[in-house]
Order: sequence, then C-alpha cells, then structure tokens
Amino acid sequence: MMSQSSSKRILLIEDEPDLVRGLRDALGFEGYAVASASTGDEGVRSARAQPPDCIILDLMLPDRNGFGVCGELRRILPRIPILILSARSHESDIIRGLEAGADDYVTKPFGVGELIARIGSLFRMISRQAVSSPRGPILIGRAAVDLAAQTVAIGSERSTLTFFEAECLRILHGSAGRVVSRDELLAEVWGAEGSHSSRTVDNVIVKLRRKLSDDARRPRHILTVYGAGYKLVP
Ligand code: CA
Repeated sequence: MMSQSSSKRILLIEDEPDLVRGLRDALGFEGYAVASASTGDEGVRSARAQPPDCIILDLMLPDRNGFGVCGELRRILPRIPILILSARSHESDIIRGLEAGADDYVTKPFGVGELIARIGSLFRMISRQAVSSPRGPILIGRAAVDLAAQTVAIGSERSTLTFFEAECLRILHGSAGRVVSRDELLAEVWGAEGSHSSRTVDNVIVKLRRKLSDDARRPRHILTVYGAGYKLVP
C-alpha cells in the first residue's frame, strides 16, 4: 500500500461501515489516501479542514440529504471532482445529482473496478486540462476567463468554474465559430468512461452561460445550433 504525501487524497462520505472498509482497502491498494466521514456534516467539516483531491459522496446519509451536501461541497470546493455513489438510480436522481454539482454518478450496486476506473478518469481529465489550457485569460463577451485557474471575472465579480465547465469551454474556445456537437463534447471532455449523456453537456452549458453572464434565452456567446450542437462566439 502506498501512502506517500504525493498520493491523491480521497474523502469518502458514506455511512455503511462495510462499504467504507471495502473502499478504503481497494482505494488504498490503488495508492490513494482515503479519509472517511459517516455523516454529511462530518464530511463537510473534513472537506473544509483538509480539502481532498476528490470526494465520493453517498446520497442517503443519516443526518442530511446528500444533494444538499453535494451543493455545499461544490460551493466550498468549486474545483474538486465529486462522484456520487448511490442506490438511487432513477434518471431524475442522476440529473439532480449532476445539477447539484457532482461530476459523476455511480449507482449501487457497483463493481469496485468500475468505481476505480471512474475516479482514474476524473483525475486524468484534470491532469490533461492542466497541460492543455491556454496561458492567460481569454475574453468571452465581458467575461475574462482563466481556464487554467478556472476563474471568470466580469468587472469586479468573480466566479469559479468546475473542471468540467472549464474543459467544455476550452473545447468550444478551441473551435470558436465552429459548431461542436454534444457527442464531440462528451467524447472530448468526459471520455469513453462514465454514464453521461447529452443531458450532462446541456447542464454544463446552462451553468457556463450563467457564469459568463450570457442570456440563457437569447445567448450571444454560447449559441445552441439546433440539431447540431453548440458554438462559441467570443
Ligand atoms: Ca447510506
């Protein structure tokens, strides 16, 4: 088992002791350092005190609704990947989880190998983004976007992008003026792994427009091209 300080730290917020034990062993074997919390409040406290590199979050916790916990974690740590692990497998739950700020959603029961692959995929995407972001801010309308820092500044107002939002914007910006299909965005940003659909892309676009102060009803910068995809007009 590796436990050097350079290993990625995963915070597991889960109240089933057997599952916590099993995941601790499996993730530890992969070289991750695992911290765990058995309630939502404890998880939020832990994430604040020592921000992890990734969070695995159960939705049915003894003290709080996991969607609320997810939203709070997203506000505290806008750039940390959050993966929901839940027995709730309805499409509406998955959409709600992604809307609450989760980056991926794995339904129980699951294979440990699949979970580890998903986590690896989240980390790979982050590291790929780190090397391929353009240097310096890009201008989209009135918004100055720093993709590497995952920040947006509009005048004195600042907001933070999740890495999926930044990654989508990077792809759209790399093809500015050209239509990028939802499938292309899915393949480029989320890769082959994961349970994402075009709804995932649409949710991220909604959030990006809000952060770039682009009018959702009549967008001027991230345009919807009906039946084709999205087009960025900086
Ligand atoms: Ca539970």
